Amino acid sequence: MFQSPLFRVLAAQALLVTVASAADPKPAGTPAAPKASPTGYTDTPFIPGQKWRVHDDARPRPAVVTPAETFSHGAAAPADAVVLFNGTDLSKWRAGGETDAPAPWKVENGHMEVVPKSGAIRTKDEFGDFQLHLEFATPEVVSGNSQGRGNSGVIIYGRYEIQVLDSFENPTYADGQAGAIYGQYPPLRNAAKAPGRWQTYDIIFETPRWEKGELVKRGNVTVIHNGVLLHHKQEILGAVAHRNVPKYTPHDPRGPITLQDHGNPMRFRNIWIRPIGGYDESAAK
Ligand code: MG
Repeated sequence: MFQSPLFRVLAAQALLVTVASAADPKPAGTPAAPKASPTGYTDTPFIPGQKWRVHDDARPRPAVVTPAETFSHGAAAPADAVVLFNGTDLSKWRAGGETDAPAPWKVENGHMEVVPKSGAIRTKDEFGDFQLHLEFATPEVVSGNSQGRGNSGVIIYGRYEIQVLDSFENPTYADGQAGAIYGQYPPLRNAAKAPGRWQTYDIIFETPRWEKGELVKRGNVTVIHNGVLLHHKQEILGAVAHRNVPKYTPHDPRGPITLQDHGNPMRFRNIWIRPIGGYDESAAK
């Protein structure tokens, strides 16, 4: 059938209008609902050495343990700690990535808050083996689901992510729960508090070691969440990956701590870090 060029243009425009209205049926001015986030996957590769896939939908979700009201909440920094955030400013932080730009998050009422889409922040200082204390709160007003709800992360050296998530009655894949070594190990328990409540992480990390470019010791991590042990010196399998297997690449034995912007207005407060040190070191060292 012959169709004039004008007819084809009009027909194409009608199709575009149809597609647009099908995709966005809400009246103008209505805030868009967050896109639903998958609660797991069935098509990802297997985690090396495990019987589970990365973000496996079938992997058991960790058992819930209701934490006590407080554990290390408000814990003051020991004398040899670097105070990374005391509630007043972001002077110890800068923007994520290879830049010296200032940290783009806001500070108010004694906490810092992610400005969604402004990007991650990272410490100016670098750390080797460390003990880290931090407190976080997920948004009191729940928005989104699964990985879209109250997501951030403590990303050691920008490589190894201890997940921060609103895991309170929020189904998501086990290796993406609050405190997971993201994409590798679920937390041993789900110790999440309700949205808006302050929670604590106490994280002990030993950096991986290389000799002549060969990995001779994997990094490992111990994580306590609101007083509940999530990992006990668990070996890290490599750099964090989404829907993919973790891999190591050589890096310095020290690096910055990154806090993730995953699009949610997460809050942090009382962050300090101290070197672990070794036995029999004199005080002068
Ligand atoms: Mg995260």
